Amino acid sequence: MFSKILIANRGEIAVRIIRACKELGIRTVAVYSEADRSSLHVRLADEAICVGGPRPDQSYLNIPAIISAAEITDVDGIHPGYGFLAENAHFAEICESCNVTFVGPTSKAIGLLGDKLAAKDVMRKAGIPIIPGSLAAVKNKEDALQTARRVGYPVIVKAAAGGGGRGMRICHNDVRLVSALMICQSEAEASFGKGDVFVEKYLQQPRHIEFQILADKHGHTIHLGERDCTIQRRHQKLIEESPSPAVDSKLRRKMGDMAVRAAKAAGYTTVGTVEFLLDRDGNFYFIEMNTRIQVEHPVTETVTGIDLIKEQIRAAAGEPLRLKQEDVTLSGWAIECRINAADPSNGFSPSPGRITMYHEPGGPGIRVDTHIFGGYEVPPYYDSLLAKLIVRGQTRQEAIRVMQRALEEFFIEPLRTTIPLHKQIFSDPAFWRGQFSTDYLDQLLGEREA
Ligand code: ADP
Repeated sequence: MFSKILIANRGEIAVRIIRACKELGIRTVAVYSEADRSSLHVRLADEAICVGGPRPDQSYLNIPAIISAAEITDVDGIHPGYGFLAENAHFAEICESCNVTFVGPTSKAIGLLGDKLAAKDVMRKAGIPIIPGSLAAVKNKEDALQTARRVGYPVIVKAAAGGGGRGMRICHNDVRLVSALMICQSEAEASFGKGDVFVEKYLQQPRHIEFQILADKHGHTIHLGERDCTIQRRHQKLIEESPSPAVDSKLRRKMGDMAVRAAKAAGYTTVGTVEFLLDRDGNFYFIEMNTRIQVEHPVTETVTGIDLIKEQIRAAAGEPLRLKQEDVTLSGWAIECRINAADPSNGFSPSPGRITMYHEPGGPGIRVDTHIFGGYEVPPYYDSLLAKLIVRGQTRQEAIRVMQRALEEFFIEPLRTTIPLHKQIFSDPAFWRGQFSTDYLDQLLGEREA
């Protein structure tokens, strides 16, 4: 087991990892930017080192500074959290060469699965259903048009290296496809350093269903059930739940088996997520595999009783899985809301600033994962996630009622947050019925992709 882990991240996930380390008896090192001096993760860790200026490229993405901090503090592991360097194969490789264990998959698996096209190819060969489309990066506009004609419009153009809901464009005809192609290629080059794009069929009104994978370095792989992440704004998740109102035990077994097969095909050795789209006819298709702990992991923890961060650390330390597939049962219903410092009534414009009054909901069935507190100044440089509000009920209806109560109790003054939008969603009959698809929120907000 590790004796000391450096957490190459900030915010709620850094706090979450520190908590898991403390319970495992592992010492912790926080790294922080000049804008995060008084952050909670800095206060809670055993040691803390400033790694640079406020901008992410100066600090949380500054590989030499982070590796130096790891050397100075003599850690034996680095946990990357999510975002920042979590899916950077080069960073994982550097850790491997410095004899510091990267708490995540191998650099090889990150490299392979970080490329959506390469990942689709591996899955296709392993017999996993994929969405029809390009088999290789689009070479030119004729190539793209040919693929679109083969699979039929609408299609979606995606960056092979894309992530976070960025780098995608939906096209309904040849003219749009040709312009989307050029835009996506240059955006992908600028954002991800790689201009490869591909075309695939755009599924109408699907649900986003993902499976949590737990694997070890000894060839064991299991899944911990699904998360339904269909409530999205512009392809970015806002609400997640487990189980899914659209998945029964038969479908869970089928999709779960495919998810395990996908992880095995990629030589996967730790926690990860296999993402599928489920269409209205009950067909499902692999879209990508995420090689990190995800923002929405607490809903799985809530219904399985398994601490995913601890399992991730144990797997990285080389311990064999202590669970078999038949040991995993889902109990009750969990829902998570992402509370962001963003104004839903004004195009989700960022709302950083000082929190003068903070009150967190409490009582049965409530968990809040956050790094904020009264008096905290939310810096403008980072992702706007302030807190994750996770609730549990015996049934979905009960979980929704707990969430409604919790949202009423949550005060983060004077910032504009996504709380009012969540209140609106949780009182919508369509949400109560569990009948929605990925375009639900864009329709509710009257937003359409440009
Ligand atoms: P990212 O890596 O940026 O998160 P994903 O490939 O995981 O991108 O897709 C994010 C979301 O975009 C999905 O949950 C879904 O809502 C939408 N999406 C992606 N591909 C398709 C598709 N082929 N058809 C319909 N929706 C899609």
